[in-house]
Amino acid sequence: MSLFLILKLNYLLLCLKVLLVSSLVQLNTKSSSSSSNNNNNIPNIPPSSRVVFVGLDESKFRHPLDRDLTARVQAAPFSQLAQEGLRRTYPLVEEAVRLDLLSSSVKVSRQQLPELYHLLLEACRVLGIYREESSSKDIKIPDLYIQSSSQANAFTLALRGRDAPPIIVVTSSLLDRCSEPEIQAIIGHELGHLKCEHSLYLTLGGLASAPLRSLPFMGGTVDRLLQEWRLAAEYTCDRASLLVAQDSKVVAGALIKLFAGTSKYSMSTDAFVAQCVEYDEKLKSANPLVRMSIQRQQRTHPLPVRRVAELEKWAESTEYANILKSGSSA
Ligand SMILES: [Zn+2]
Repeated sequence: MSLFLILKLNYLLLCLKVLLVSSLVQLNTKSSSSSSNNNNNIPNIPPSSRVVFVGLDESKFRHPLDRDLTARVQAAPFSQLAQEGLRRTYPLVEEAVRLDLLSSSVKVSRQQLPELYHLLLEACRVLGIYREESSSKDIKIPDLYIQSSSQANAFTLALRGRDAPPIIVVTSSLLDRCSEPEIQAIIGHELGHLKCEHSLYLTLGGLASAPLRSLPFMGGTVDRLLQEWRLAAEYTCDRASLLVAQDSKVVAGALIKLFAGTSKYSMSTDAFVAQCVEYDEKLKSANPLVRMSIQRQQRTHPLPVRRVAELEKWAESTEYANILKSGSSA
């Protein structure tokens, strides 16, 4: 194998790692495409009483920090060029992921696990992802895969406006633990990542800040900001989840089952939110060394208790009420 080829393969693996790392929750996401689902004329979606958000602009539900940092990256002089580079690299990464999933996971369709396929279509319809008249900027209906794993997780990987549909993967462990509304809420979270193109912008943010990391005293600050951005992206997508479920108890139920690792007993959302308050109080009064050590922990996702508390706060907000008012009950 030539040095050039080795370098190229290493580069692809690096890209894959960056893209996967940049687009997760403990519900992670990737995306890919399928020909059978790649049909924008989806008939036979039973009507639901939920509000539908046709043409929903993702800036409406982005967490403020996510909104601010994404806008800065979009406005940066390098942005267009870097975006083009990533958009050219992505298909290779997606192709590898897609082939891997096709070889070892179960792809959901009208014929395969139709109940889950319906949940996906309905979530897409509510978030305005499915349109009769698609444009090149629209997101295609994602391919949904079920992967066997003892780890409860979900993830997505995709860019907008590409020929191939995005990919969403949900693991068997998460599927077994959740009710159908909760599974749909999880799909909604992943659709949020797709609508916001977190894979693209978080990767761009990481690339743009790389030179700053080498400056004296800047490395830690830059890493912390990127870390906060990744956490804010998760809050954003919990909001997308709520927009799909339109019931915060459903979203919180899915999250708590994920964090507790069991669905054997029913659990209280209110008690879990109170646990967040208790955590914050105890953290404040903790030994400074302990506190510093906890705060320095690098996490790809927000603290579980904080996530549920943030979700409940947004569910009570005027911002959420106004988005609901802006939708139609078609
Ligand atoms: Zn996520």
